Amino acid sequence: MTPMEQAPLGLYVHLPFCVRKCAYCDFASFAGREGDMARYVDAVLKEARIKSGLSRPIATLYLGGGTPSLLPPETMDRLLRGLRCAFHFLPGAECSCECNPGTVTKAFLETLKKGGINRLSFGAQARQPELLSLLGRIHTWEQVEQSVALAREAGFDNINLDLMLGLPGQTLADVQETLDAALSLSPTHLSCYGLIVEEGTKMSRMVESGAWQLPDEETERDMYELCRSVLSRHGFFQYEISNFSLPGFACRHNLDCWQRKEYLGLGSAACGFVGSVRFENPPGLDDYLKGKPAEETVISPSEARFESMMLGLRMTEGVSNADFAARHGMSIQAAFGEKLNKPLAQGLVEWSGDCLRLTRRGMDVQNAVLVELMD
Ligand code: SF4
Repeated sequence: MTPMEQAPLGLYVHLPFCVRKCAYCDFASFAGREGDMARYVDAVLKEARIKSGLSRPIATLYLGGGTPSLLPPETMDRLLRGLRCAFHFLPGAECSCECNPGTVTKAFLETLKKGGINRLSFGAQARQPELLSLLGRIHTWEQVEQSVALAREAGFDNINLDLMLGLPGQTLADVQETLDAALSLSPTHLSCYGLIVEEGTKMSRMVESGAWQLPDEETERDMYELCRSVLSRHGFFQYEISNFSLPGFACRHNLDCWQRKEYLGLGSAACGFVGSVRFENPPGLDDYLKGKPAEETVISPSEARFESMMLGLRMTEGVSNADFAARHGMSIQAAFGEKLNKPLAQGLVEWSGDCLRLTRRGMDVQNAVLVELMD
């Protein structure tokens, strides 16, 4: 067995159930399918037993969705026990679970704690009731506060809150109020995501019809800058375009993904890659439950090199040339040659020691930088 085969893996488990669909959501998630949860967990555990044949230890687990906190505690308990039977988790493995404040109960949190989950991520989004309602969220800010209090009682001290920027009608004062409210809950980590209007969603229809108006680009940039300055003043460091943490609390699962480390995905719509093969499970719940196999794609060496840049440039420290060379057998300069010249000359990327990273201006136009690096 080569060292690479023994290297630890990340493990993502997709739990696609939601109470109802949020206005902006185009994730593979489904409302009204709670009756399928037990059968779904059976299917995930079957997939886990098959994939555990790789005999590689697990460094991080991430339960995402969907709304993992919609699972009844006994179903979550069965899932966590099953995963621990199938895989060997490294001591100190980071194990995260996404939670929706509208669905969290004491019994559920105690089940997570008992099952080895040590990091929680709450989709808090915004302090203002009118923005939560516009987003179609099922929770109130009071439920965010109650959920965080319950989480602390259950013994969780590593807590992320997801917040959203650039919402229709959202003002800078709203963002400041949301940040203040979020910080008062003493999270270890905050994710501040700009709204992306996805085709086919209610958000897209309302924006296109003119019924909802998005803030202009400058205001959205100001919101982002406000997050950066307020969070920096509170001791958070930005380690990725949208992610901020107290020292020692960066999400290891996500860092490993951005460093393009191998991971397994279980459940509908879950992907993963091992070696040069990418696996994508069917996005539809019924297809997955019927056992439709994952699609497998071979990743070419040039695609792998581009992926390393696409993911790695999201991190504020950028892409280490030494790591890149160890992984791909050539330096960043050898892989991208003259394609680096324009973004370097425009001040969108820069070298910082061994690392190529986006500048502050480059972070606003990351896609334009990536287009320059494409074949
Ligand atoms: S809770 Fe999350 S996954 Fe579910 S509909 Fe809302 S945004 Fe989508």
